[in-house]
Amino acid sequence: MQIVKTIKEVREIVTDWKKQGLTIGFVPTMGYLHEGHQSLIKRSTENDRTVVSIFVNPIQFGPNEDFASYPRDLERDTKKCEEAGADLIFAPSDSEMYADDFSTYVDMTGPTDELCGLKRPGHFKGVCTVVSKLFNIVTPDRAYFGQKDAQQLAVIKRMVRDLSIGVEIVGCPIIREADGLAKSSRNTYLSEDERKAAVVISKALETGRKMIENGEKSAETLIAKITELIQSEPLAKIDYIKAVDADSIVPVSNLDGNVLVAAAVYIGKTRLIDNFISEGSEK
Ligand code: AMP
Repeated sequence: MQIVKTIKEVREIVTDWKKQGLTIGFVPTMGYLHEGHQSLIKRSTENDRTVVSIFVNPIQFGPNEDFASYPRDLERDTKKCEEAGADLIFAPSDSEMYADDFSTYVDMTGPTDELCGLKRPGHFKGVCTVVSKLFNIVTPDRAYFGQKDAQQLAVIKRMVRDLSIGVEIVGCPIIREADGLAKSSRNTYLSEDERKAAVVISKALETGRKMIENGEKSAETLIAKITELIQSEPLAKIDYIKAVDADSIVPVSNLDGNVLVAAAVYIGKTRLIDNFISEGSEK
């Protein structure tokens, strides 16, 4: 496995692979890798070569967010990539990605208007811009994104369709800790008490999933129940809980169809997200 820091090096390696007729899978990450990221890398080994990018993208963080404190450890990440079967790590510096006078952005309306898009203004503009750049650099056949960031997955699918980018987007399931908490690089921020409290998010969502399975049709009733369960945890503060169409991210009132139920919750100062997708009840 190789580790490179410049766009030029990635282009040279990828050009060589393409000359050999090899297919390329790509997993964009912000590093501090865990089994969630590794599940994407493992899935990507269905391609002949797998590229992982590790880049904490400054332009997707708001001014009061955790860009400076976001965990970074390239040595640790290198081992995790190797274990999972990656062939190349692209770990650029901020200046390699953004010239001092950088001024071109990819922006979107629609799927970015709700959930994290509403709560984190500019976030998806930063995500779409960096992912577009990374697609242009790596030129993969397929790119792998986690359902953990369900809105991001919908946004990237929309961007690729709208801008006719020749990459197949593959969504991968959420990987969880034994107690149900969705794995996240941000879980490292949690104190022992907060870590115990954080399980309330996945437990409440699981209750919601069962309600739909048992025939619940009202998004309002569902959200009220999930809210009540999360509010019963003193360390938890809800940022949002919403039911939206899984593709368009437009809020729904009826739970039939392809519905994404998504939550963002502060546990202490740490903002965690989780979700599930329901394809409608059977009753
Ligand atoms: P990040 O490093 O947080 O930007 O995440 C990089 C990719 O890994 C994104 O596509 C995430 O959705 C995915 N990912 C993060 N956590 C998980 C998880 N627990 N299960 C599955 N995929 C995940």
